[in-house]
Amino acid sequence: MRKPLIAGNWKLHKTIGEAKDLARQLCTKLVDVHNTDIVLAPPFTAITAVAEICTGTAIKVAGQNCYPEPQGAFTGEVSAPQLKDAGCAYVILGHSERRQIFAEDDTFINAKVHAVLQADMQAILCVGETLEQRERGDLFEVLNIQIQNGLNKTSATQMEHLVIAYEPIWAIGTGKTASSEDAAEVHAYIRGLLQGMYSPAIAQNTRIIYGGSVKPDNISALMAQADIDGALVGGASLNAVDFSAIVNFPRSIHMADSAR
Ligand code: PEP
Repeated sequence: MRKPLIAGNWKLHKTIGEAKDLARQLCTKLVDVHNTDIVLAPPFTAITAVAEICTGTAIKVAGQNCYPEPQGAFTGEVSAPQLKDAGCAYVILGHSERRQIFAEDDTFINAKVHAVLQADMQAILCVGETLEQRERGDLFEVLNIQIQNGLNKTSATQMEHLVIAYEPIWAIGTGKTASSEDAAEVHAYIRGLLQGMYSPAIAQNTRIIYGGSVKPDNISALMAQADIDGALVGGASLNAVDFSAIVNFPRSIHMADSAR
């Protein structure tokens, strides 16, 4: 049984004071949530403060990125062990903004995946296509390459610590969401890919979450799809009312039946 995971990516938003305020509100609003894993990814400067506030709650903290090496002469970078030391349990890797703005490629992202797993943390590996790639009919090939390369040399055991986030780039921060049926088709494709790369059991146990303009009014339809196990939320994670509404999305009878 895959436990739903809802993660908020605060990107380059929030001072330390604002982050603490938002974290406190979320800890209060989400205190009774036990059926969903909740993850907050503040900017690096606010990680320790947010992690301290979330200590003793079910909310975990994530880094938005890391460098593959644990330490060394890499000015401006932050390593996975440093993120763990600051209070993170997860790290988001390969976000499309990292791929597009900072030219990160699959080999570099794969090195980060290994660094995060080596540090005994959970990796959230983001994949997704541009609108151009989708319109050219290259969607599945693009995802195949990103996943095969991003997971290169990742063992079946390590997959227990890995979440895949499918984030169509054209849907991020645009207000355009993939229809729940379109997203479901892609999630099913990714699960099939994992089955071929690993095993049916690994494919069934790996959480595949969706990201791209997730809001309180579209989360239920997305989560009603069998292969969608949660959401990576950008804009709507920046305020407590919207993010807690997403975490507490109304569950359909079908989902309640399967205890999701
Ligand atoms: C994201 O940052 O990963 C994201 C999906 O952003 P938004 O929800 O704003 O589209």
